[in-house]
Amino acid sequence: MDLLIINGLLIDPSQDIENLNALLIEGSSVRGIVDRASYSVQGDSAQVKGYPGKKFSVIDAKDKWVVPGLIDIHTHMRDPGYEYKEDIITGTRAAMLAGFTSVCAMPNTRPVNDNKAVTHYMISKAEAMGYVNLFPIAAASKGSEGAELSEIYDLVEAGAVAVSDDGMPIASAELLRKVLLYIKPIGMPVVDHPEELSLGRSGYMNEGTVSVRLGLDGIPQTAESIAVARDILLAGETGSRLHLAHISTRYSVELVRWAKKMGIPVTCEATPHHFSLSDQAVEGYNTDAKVNPPLRSERDRQALLEAISDGTIDCIVSDHAPHGRDEKEIEFDKALNGISGLETSLGLSLQLVHSGIIDKRRLVRLMSQQPAQIMGLKGKGTLRPGSDADVTIISPDDTWIVDRDTFVSKGKNTPFHGMELRGRAWMTITGGTIHGDTRF
Ligand SMILES: [Zn+2]
Repeated sequence: MDLLIINGLLIDPSQDIENLNALLIEGSSVRGIVDRASYSVQGDSAQVKGYPGKKFSVIDAKDKWVVPGLIDIHTHMRDPGYEYKEDIITGTRAAMLAGFTSVCAMPNTRPVNDNKAVTHYMISKAEAMGYVNLFPIAAASKGSEGAELSEIYDLVEAGAVAVSDDGMPIASAELLRKVLLYIKPIGMPVVDHPEELSLGRSGYMNEGTVSVRLGLDGIPQTAESIAVARDILLAGETGSRLHLAHISTRYSVELVRWAKKMGIPVTCEATPHHFSLSDQAVEGYNTDAKVNPPLRSERDRQALLEAISDGTIDCIVSDHAPHGRDEKEIEFDKALNGISGLETSLGLSLQLVHSGIIDKRRLVRLMSQQPAQIMGLKGKGTLRPGSDADVTIISPDDTWIVDRDTFVSKGKNTPFHGMELRGRAWMTITGGTIHGDTRF
């Protein structure tokens, strides 16, 4: 469609832009940003200088922010294989309504995405719906079993943007080193879920006063940080790109800070649940707050906030992990790990802006520009002329209550049910198409 988005606050850190100019979209591409003197509006269409005889449909974004489409590089779409938890139709529709225009999907499906057929299936199913762009992250090892390299070149050719065994770490240092070396000429990141399994599988929640009080075996912070240190050293040695998934402890943050200072090509992500909640949320044996890595101490949470604000953390991801009801509504030790995070991700992240921890531009960097850079998504994360017409319009002051029963995702497992949040997505435009399927 040919669109002119007017009256909104345009925020594009890639061009150092934050102003009230209008965004011009022609077909599936951004044409440019035009000032008030360059267009005239009649009803709901507009004429734009330099485009004689052409009519643009007007979107009035008054009191809203117009930003490059948000990108979530860590989701579990559960399809193929676990469609009772989520499928690509519900998952990508939830993403779209939550303000995302692109998602990366982890490979821990059934079968595992370690072959072209699964990669093709995921991409084509998402394309057929057209809600958002879906970029698969393929398995680093065959079956994500951590023994043998997967067919990485094949998977990349089929459309994978990175490799990971997420859900599990790449436990063998030797194998991770091999994957890093193998992927180096391709220039893609290896995404590792940093966990030392001998410690990480020792408990059910963060080790601390809350775990002691609840009588639950704890997972020490070293379960993560030891793996973070190992991964960073291997990235440093090989010179390959490493992206650390969902870091959650103050030691991990310090290690990443050190790595960046040393010039090691490492990036990392944090989730809204880790920066919004501490292990207190587990009180009452709340299985909706059971997640891996576990919700950490308040001190760790504060360290994450500081790292988000100073740029140590490169992006925010939902780690969307939907589960069936009977996988969560059971004894704490038996409940599966994970939070259905897509539909609260932007709302929780906006609280960082409202509370002054980050500014609007940093939010856009964390949720659009840097995710695009990390995954090498060309034409995304920016509103430069010629880029893809992926746009999110945010209503920053719209107050709402999280209600799991209205989630579009099949996963209703959220510890944020009933929480009041300020700000949410108002409209998403993917490839120049506005989806009629909006709730607002
Ligand atoms: Zn993970």
